[in-house]
Parts: sequence; structure tokens; C-alpha cells
Amino acid sequence: MVNNSNIDRVLELVRKTVKSYRAPVLERFNDEIKDPFWVLIPCILSLRSRDETTAVAARKLYQAAPTPEQILSIAPKKLEQLLFSTGFYRQKAKAVRRISQLILEKYNGSVPDTIEELLTLPGVGRKTANLTVTVAFNKPGICVDTHVHKICNRWGFVKTKNADATEMQLRKILPKKYWIKLNYWLVLYGQNICLSVSPLCSKCPVSSYCPRLGVKKSR
Ligand code: SF4
Repeated sequence: MVNNSNIDRVLELVRKTVKSYRAPVLERFNDEIKDPFWVLIPCILSLRSRDETTAVAARKLYQAAPTPEQILSIAPKKLEQLLFSTGFYRQKAKAVRRISQLILEKYNGSVPDTIEELLTLPGVGRKTANLTVTVAFNKPGICVDTHVHKICNRWGFVKTKNADATEMQLRKILPKKYWIKLNYWLVLYGQNICLSVSPLCSKCPVSSYCPRLGVKKSR
């Protein structure tokens, strides 16, 4: 079982393992653009879309209209076309326009840097709000996506039914020094070792700590 007496060791093993992996595609996009608005917008586009597809659409949109003002100057139909490949493009185009508008009207053109303010924007849930504060502003937050939720439950580090509940438990038990990096490490770990279906337990360096809770089939 992973708990507070071994979490340092477990996360050190995870960190070392993922060090050689290529950063996730959206992380690479963020690194290149270095703009909080372009951390936030790809999150909105990522709903039910693969990261690769999201990154291509985000880049197209960035090239067409890099600022909230410019996004508002695009014809709504054109904006929908740019987002078409990500699915749910009408709702996403509406959310992107409304977010651009609110950022200009309420926040003087800058993305707010608190979870509470981010949550007031349309289409922004806790995952997006936490990712934005951590990646764009390097402020404490715990972004819980499907990988973080899955792995922390398999470890028995938390026992939760959904990502928001996982975030709340992690906020109570995870040492703060790991908050910002946890998502990055566990996304890569979940994509390469602790796969959703049939994880590679025989190759997993933390297997001696992991009770594999809920894992039905592994390799
Ligand atoms: S790969 Fe297997 S042993 Fe490793 S963390 Fe995932 S479930 Fe646990």
C-alpha cells in the first residue's frame, strides 16, 4: 500500500522512470507558447478529444488568433471550423469566445491566477483550474486527470470515486512539495506503465508498494 511513510520513495521511483519519456504533447505546446491563455484554452478543447488532436487544433487557433481580442474578432462560424476536429466544436467555440470576453471585461485581458476565479469561467472545472494555476503560474494546485485518479486509487493512497474527490483527499495527505509535479509524473506513468487496461505491473518499479486495487488484468 502506498501511504505517507513511503510516498517519497514511490514518487522518487516514478520521477526517475518518467525522466527519459518525452513530455506529453500539450505540455510541449505550453512550454513553447508560454502564455497562461494558451494553457487554459487547450484544456477547454481537450474535452473528449485526444491530446494529439487537441494540440493540432490549439496550434491552428493560436496561429489564427493568438489573443482574446483576436479570438473575438473571428467570425463564429470560422471559429467553429477551427475547432471542428476536437468534437463538440459548437459548445467549445462558444466557451472559448465567452472566456475571451470575460478575460477582457473582468480581468483586464489577463488570465486570473486563482482556482476560485478560474472556476467562474464557462467550461472550466477543477482539473482545468488546477492545471492553469500550476502550469501557467507555478502556484500550488493538484491537477487530477484520469491517470492521477486511477494510479492513486490503485496504490490505495486514496479511496475515491471521482477525480474531484481524489483532489480533495490528496490536498489533505500529499506533501505540498509534490503538488505541482504530480500530474506531469503520473500522466507519463499512466501512459507508459500503469496503463488503464492491463497495466505493465511486471515492469513497474513501484510494484512492491502497490496493492493493484481494482486491477483485473495486468502484464
Ligand atoms: S503498473 Fe501495476 S504495480 Fe505499477 S502502479 Fe500500476 S497497478 Fe501498481
